[in-house]
Amino acid sequence: MHIRILGSAAGGGFPQWNCGCRNCSELRAGSLQATTRTQTQLAFSPDGQVWFLLGASPDLRSQIIATAQLAPPPGDTTGSPIAGVFLTSADVDSVMGLLHLREFQSFFIFATPAVQRLLKNENRVFDVLHRADPPVLWQTLSPGARLACRFGEDPSAPPSFVCSPTSLGCDFPDFVSTELRRTLPSSEAVLALRFEQAGKSFCFAPCLSENSGEGMKAAASSNVAFLDGTFWSDDELIQTGRGQKTAREMGHLPLSGRDGLLAQFPKDSECRKILVHINNTNPILDESSDERRAAREAGFEIAYDGMEVTL
Ligand SMILES: [Zn+2]
Repeated sequence: MHIRILGSAAGGGFPQWNCGCRNCSELRAGSLQATTRTQTQLAFSPDGQVWFLLGASPDLRSQIIATAQLAPPPGDTTGSPIAGVFLTSADVDSVMGLLHLREFQSFFIFATPAVQRLLKNENRVFDVLHRADPPVLWQTLSPGARLACRFGEDPSAPPSFVCSPTSLGCDFPDFVSTELRRTLPSSEAVLALRFEQAGKSFCFAPCLSENSGEGMKAAASSNVAFLDGTFWSDDELIQTGRGQKTAREMGHLPLSGRDGLLAQFPKDSECRKILVHINNTNPILDESSDERRAAREAGFEIAYDGMEVTL
């Protein structure tokens, strides 16, 4: 499997347009040892030809343009190597990019029934995806159920890969009304997605909360795990003057501390751990920081745009 990290920052990217935190200010001034990052987006290919997107970030158009493997093959006037999009949630940062894919192209969208309802029935702007002929094809992801994906028409052929979704115990996005929220199963709000092919696997879990034990296990049992690197400390937004909520109140386990992700991730796991969805306030973005060194010493890599992993 080929995996490419098209974007590695949290919502807002790095630097963020309206942020004057130390990281963003010094990056703009050229005095920070760090690189710019677009919003978190992965792409993977089971065979090097057909590609699937994990999430649909607000930066998706420029991320696709910057990636040669995702361009239509020369001479193909209607095609794209992108066959589908797997959605982990209905968060704006995970779905906004679908609007970049609206140019009369048919593809698969994999999402839980609750996320499908939010996008199809509650946000009519996504109707633009149905103008394609044939229209986009929605496929259901159910937490706990394995989904075998096959290329071609033969249903008895072995699957090209298997996707196993796990509920991360997180909440629906803020834009979902209390009334509507009551009718949606919370297990369908945010998923970790584990992909398996020929005995190799990777897991995408860009949002891990205190309730994400099952997702953490799914990640730990994979060869490679892309994990929630949003915040270094619980009070990071308060300390940097960027907000009033703690990391935990926003549904993210911070990286540091005795009960943070670095300490909590199963120690017996042999998986390669790569942090994604890194907020612009996070000190690990500074390549000379103590925090970055601590994360590396704990065995965690820090993702960057354009990073490639082959399994
Ligand atoms: Zn900032």
